[in-house]
Amino acid sequence: MFIEREVDANIIESDQQWENSLRPMRFQDFPGQDIIKEKLQIFVQAAKKRNAPLDHTLLSGPPGLGKTTLARIIAEEMGVDFRSTSAPAIDKKGDLAALLTSLKPHSVLFIDEIHRLNRVLEEYLYTAMEDYFIDIVTGEGLGARTMKFDLVPFTLIGATTRAGLLNSPFIDRFGIMERLQFYSKEALEQILKRSSHILNLESSHDGLREIAKRSRGTPRIANRLLRRVRDYAEVKSNGIMDYKLTQYALDQLGVDHGGLDDMDRQILTLIKDKFAGGPVGIETMAAALSEERDTIEEVYEPFLIQEGLIQKTQRGRVITPQGCEHLEKKLKK
Ligand code: ADP
Repeated sequence: MFIEREVDANIIESDQQWENSLRPMRFQDFPGQDIIKEKLQIFVQAAKKRNAPLDHTLLSGPPGLGKTTLARIIAEEMGVDFRSTSAPAIDKKGDLAALLTSLKPHSVLFIDEIHRLNRVLEEYLYTAMEDYFIDIVTGEGLGARTMKFDLVPFTLIGATTRAGLLNSPFIDRFGIMERLQFYSKEALEQILKRSSHILNLESSHDGLREIAKRSRGTPRIANRLLRRVRDYAEVKSNGIMDYKLTQYALDQLGVDHGGLDDMDRQILTLIKDKFAGGPVGIETMAAALSEERDTIEEVYEPFLIQEGLIQKTQRGRVITPQGCEHLEKKLKK
């Protein structure tokens, strides 16, 4: 089953230009993630001082929190080339070799969804990361020969939503590892202010605060909701995104006061009403919702758990008192 959700941070806007136009290019324009940002700024400065590439870096965390953006910022601040790909797009050693051999010194090679790299390619990266060389096989069959090919020093930046799936020899080769956290409402408000300024939108503080409140701690969702609210403002009003209009638009979009949409509420209601509050096993939930187990675990659950609305126990998922309260509040509204 595929439902397009306004609050799904996995869905990248089809209009890539929109996302790119809002992507900060410098640390100073990147609100939030203060501790990580400060560390990265120091590591970048130190690498520049030594005239060395930045250590290989692994950025993990839920989708839409700024992993790609930070990787681009690192390249920009280092003053080096940025090459970007994603693990599912590389399916043989040749693809990876072509990428690695075309890098300029100190370049950033960004590999998104790095947990999806197959084991053979992952191992192929080991010598590239550690000693800047790869083995290239020429010829076939009995005439095949392995040649050692030296690479220029570079920085691999891997992004992953599932750091737990990476093998430890691979993890050990990253000198810097950071896990991005969901954003505070204040940081999201700052991001929205910046976006609305770039896009020349007229918005009120409390309007933007309302979007920030309902954006599940995720900049990608905040920017998407900003775009949808703008549509409502243009059609239903005078183009100004004030508090009342914003609230109306978000309600119409089915995004409630806590940033939950119909699917989230369906999950809460399922556990509460059909399974007496739980525990209910993930397979049972998947069957009841006609959804893949992985989608529930990767897309829906993290936010509900992080908000303390459900809990994962050894025997399955349970709804918390806050989860029940959330459903009641929504019903009263
Ligand atoms: P990820 O790689 O973690 O999925 P991205 O870096 O692609 O996320 O970010 C998604 C969108 O959110 C981009 O349009 C980006 O500009 C915006 N964004 C993410 N983090 C920030 C931030 N701290 N400040 C401003 N915009 C951000």
